[in-house]
This record gives sequence, structure tokens and C-alpha cells, in this order.
Amino acid sequence: MKDLVDSFNRKINYLRVSITDRCNLRCVYCMPIDGIPKVNQKDILSYEEILRIVEVAVKNGITKIRITGGEPLVRKGVIDFVRSLSRIHGVKDLSLTTNGILLRGFASDLFQAGLHRVNVSMDSLNHVKFQKITGGGNLEKVCEGIEEALRVGFSPIKINTVIIHGFNDDEVIDFARLSINNPYHIRFIELMPIGSNSKWSEERYISSQEAKDKIESFRKLHPIHKKGERAAARMFRFKGAMGEIGFISPMSAHFCSSCNRLRLTANGKLRTCLFSNEEVDLKPSLRESYDNSGLERLIDLAISNKPEKHHLGEKNPKKCSRNMSDIGG
Ligand code: SAM
Ligand code: SF4
Repeated sequence: MKDLVDSFNRKINYLRVSITDRCNLRCVYCMPIDGIPKVNQKDILSYEEILRIVEVAVKNGITKIRITGGEPLVRKGVIDFVRSLSRIHGVKDLSLTTNGILLRGFASDLFQAGLHRVNVSMDSLNHVKFQKITGGGNLEKVCEGIEEALRVGFSPIKINTVIIHGFNDDEVIDFARLSINNPYHIRFIELMPIGSNSKWSEERYISSQEAKDKIESFRKLHPIHKKGERAAARMFRFKGAMGEIGFISPMSAHFCSSCNRLRLTANGKLRTCLFSNEEVDLKPSLRESYDNSGLERLIDLAISNKPEKHHLGEKNPKKCSRNMSDIGG
């Protein structure tokens, strides 16, 4: 197996695979209220096509795969897809990010199919607020999904909370407290101005540091240093707690210099940076030839053009015009 290294000497070993741009929720910061234009079904990669890309990517140095979307659990056949991915020799870490609405019914099958880890997104612990931010989502279902995931054996479970000024910044302590008696990793994510609602997101931004200060007004956080890990999240824990608390700060302390990621969109575009509009279309090569050398060349090309860093927070930055649901967060 070779290593994938970009022009800035970063080793690329992590592929996030979006299997659908569809979603059963409408989170304000992620999707336009009216939904996204319907993509022609024939433009969406089949599972077989995605598996072929993953096999090539893994042969070339990818070891971590995350399945995302849109909402990955709304796509039919996801369990068999997870099973096939888990059987690819060289996939060392296989995870999935979900909004949790359908998780209760899927958790056991996902675990049996070989999924290693699950991340659940949850932006409020208040039913009314949760409905509001997700465009009608049912918090109860998400909580049941998390409990079921824990019951069938997923551990730890990561809970992703986007911090939004004036919406849930008054809940950061309540979220953090969940880590005391549960093996949850509560991860606070800075809101990013992406897609059609980027103006809204810009106005609602609050930094990780502000959230951390609030939490520390409740109880001191102790840093956790994991050997050899260059994780995107800075991790902490309350003394004696079962779980952990993390801060992902793409805006205030971007982790571009250690970015190891590639993203594959549901319609076959390979992206090397969340914030850039550059993408390489793998579909023609995939559909025109059974030979994988074209795909390998395109993956190499994308990686050689991976930008050094994003420019958000600087004057007049170039912004990403796609919505997050469309790229795969
Ligand atoms: N539907 C699944 C979910 O919600 O977990 C997976 C896809 S979603 C695009 C992946 C993650 O991206 C979620 O945790 C979501 O909160 C996050 N996300 C979406 N838009 C974002 C934004 N503008 N800023 C920060 N995080 C965002
Ligand atoms: Fe759907 Fe996830 Fe985007 Fe919310 S964050 S709209 S659940 S894709």
C-alpha cells in the first residue's frame, strides 16, 4: 500500500463518503429551507461505484472511512453497503455520522454489519428548540437512537453539537454535563458559513473558547493528550467523568496544517477542502472504463491540488457555494 501525500507534506488517509444529498431534516445552517434541487438519480453514484472508489482509495493509502450525507440512514441498502465496506481489507476505521432520527431501528444492524463508530448530531436538549433548528425533528427519537446505539455496543458515542450564538450557547453546560455519567464524547463544533445560509451562520458564530469558558464556569476541564493522534478536536474531561468533551474549531483555530481528509460527494465529485469550490469529477472515468488506473490518476490529481488552508476569517475570503448537506459534512 502506498501513502497519499499532498504538496504540503500532509499524509491523506481519511475519506468521508456522502451517500446521499437527501435528508429527513432541514437544519437551518445546513440546508436551504425549500430543500435542495433534486439531483437526477442517474447522477448519484451506486453503492457498487462508491465501493470501487473506496477500494482504489484504500489501496492507495486511505485507512479511515466515514459515511455521511445528507442523512445516510435514509438511503436504501445502507446496511449491506456498510457490510461491504467493512470487508475491504485495509479499512481500519469505519464510522458514520447521522442525525439520529432513524438510528434506533438501524443501530443493531449497523453494529452487526461491522460499523466501528457512530457520531450523532444534536444541537439542543430542548424539544421545541430542537424542532426549530432542524425544521421539525423529534428530539425523543434521537435520544432513543443514542441509547439503542449504546445498548448494542457502540462506545464511545460522539455527540456533535454546533454552537450557535443566541440559540444554544445557554445549553453548553447541560451538554457538557452529559459526559459525567455517560460514555459520550460531547463535541462542540464552531458554526461555519457555508452554502446558501452562510450570512445567517456568520451572524450566529460563537467561538469554541467562549463555549469552553462557559463550561469552566461550571467545572474545570482537564486536557486529554492522546498519543500520536492529530485529531481535529481538542479533548478535555471533567475529573472523574465517564465521557469526554471536545472542541472542533474550524474557524478560530483551523487545523488545515494537519488536514488528512478527502470528501466524496454523492454525485461522484472528489473534494479536498470543505471551503473550496475545486472538485474532481470521478464519474466519467468510473463509468467509461473498468480499468482503475484513471481513477487512481484523478485521486492523485485532486490531492496534488489540495489547498494549503482555507481563508475564512480573512478579508473577502472565497466561500464554498455548495450546502453542507450536498458536500457531506
Ligand atoms: N445528517 C447527518 C448529521 O446531521 O449528522 C450527517 C451529515 S451533516 C452535513 C454532518 C455534520 O455537519 C453535522 O454534525 C452537522 O451539524 C454539521 N454541519 C452542517 N452544516 C454545518 C455548518 N454550517 N457549520 C458547522 N457544522 C455543520
Ligand atoms: Fe440533514 Fe445533517 Fe444537514 Fe441537518 S445537518 S440538514 S440532519 S444533513
